[in-house]
Amino acid sequence: MDDSFTLETLLLHADADDDAEPGIAPPIHASVPFSAATAEEFAELSAEPRHERFYRRYGNPTQARLERLIAEAEGAEAALATASGMGAVSTTLLTLLSAGDHVVAQHSMYGGTLGFLRDVAPRLGIEVTFVDQADTPAFARALRPNTRLVMLETPSNPLLRVTDLRAVAELARDRGILTMADNTVATPVNQRPLECGVDLVMHSVTKSLSGHSDVLAGIVAGSRELIERIWQTHILVGAVVSPYDAWLALRGLRTLVMRVERQNAGALALARFLQAHPGVAAVNHPGLPEHPQHGLAVRQMRGFGGLLSFEPHGGREAAERLLSALRLVRRSPSLGGYRTLAVRPAAMWALELSDEELTEAGVPPALIRVAVGLENPDDLVADFERALAAAGAA
Ligand SMILES: *Cc1c(COP(=O)(O)O)cnc(C)c1O
Repeated sequence: MDDSFTLETLLLHADADDDAEPGIAPPIHASVPFSAATAEEFAELSAEPRHERFYRRYGNPTQARLERLIAEAEGAEAALATASGMGAVSTTLLTLLSAGDHVVAQHSMYGGTLGFLRDVAPRLGIEVTFVDQADTPAFARALRPNTRLVMLETPSNPLLRVTDLRAVAELARDRGILTMADNTVATPVNQRPLECGVDLVMHSVTKSLSGHSDVLAGIVAGSRELIERIWQTHILVGAVVSPYDAWLALRGLRTLVMRVERQNAGALALARFLQAHPGVAAVNHPGLPEHPQHGLAVRQMRGFGGLLSFEPHGGREAAERLLSALRLVRRSPSLGGYRTLAVRPAAMWALELSDEELTEAGVPPALIRVAVGLENPDDLVADFERALAAAGAA
């Protein structure tokens, strides 16, 4: 669509040109097989890659609308929707990598992505080197002649560290290596990795893009050629998004810009409040001038996102008391929804690690991660103020 339109307008109109139906809201196409009127048409349906009206594992008109909208939002030629964010990660990695290949990835990435790289990739003969994302030259040092892919995620979770997308994309491109960025936390409202030279951008659509904590879906976007290659693997892997989820995600996307702007404002207000509170030892949010990479975040991002983390004084017990004392905020692991959710990431680690081991792994035991929702920022700050007092964190 005409790229002079702003993102909020694109998200309302970019899927309208394939409107076969007069309804303003799009239909849900539930049928698995589609029929052809003639032998010639059937031959075309079955032979053309990514046909929307052949068999649902190959594609579907509701899914195609979702793909078109997110491709527009990310400035990509094409996109492929999947059953989950992990569906996008695993299908893409299985497409791009073979035995004998090498991947460079960040230490700090989504747990599922790390799990694939640590547990599945080695079994397929794929080697992985993990580097500190804040150390750009470390990416260059880790590259090998057989490196095929550099995996990025920024800001990362739960410490909100920032990766220099332009610098890493450039050093990979110079050597003919592909880059892929997980843009789930930032969203295309705040950051567009493809504009920074990254080749592929992926999302857990489950989070901010759908935005209502009721959809499981993923997407990967990039050049038409790369996305078609990923699709060839996708129809064999079968991590296909349900058209009902695709439809709900489309509905959520219409209000993405307003929701993310509200989350940006809420997270910044809460981060500033916590930064000034005597009961808080540390706050991590890229929008704070105190963040060690604030300058890079300002250059790379238009807003800083709805995610932050902080450490109250008093260790893990004080952190758990604080979580229990919050009234508006539920103890829950997701992000990007309409309600504010908080969790102590160390509590999600299956192993019982010591405080020292957790801190070394980048998950201090008292750290609380907050995924800010759409509440009025004043109500949210007041809830944290009261809960900090109740937890005796000061
Ligand atoms: C949730 C999440 C994923 C995985 O997405 P699912 O939809 O749960 O499979 C990947 N990356 C990030 C940053 C996430 O937050």
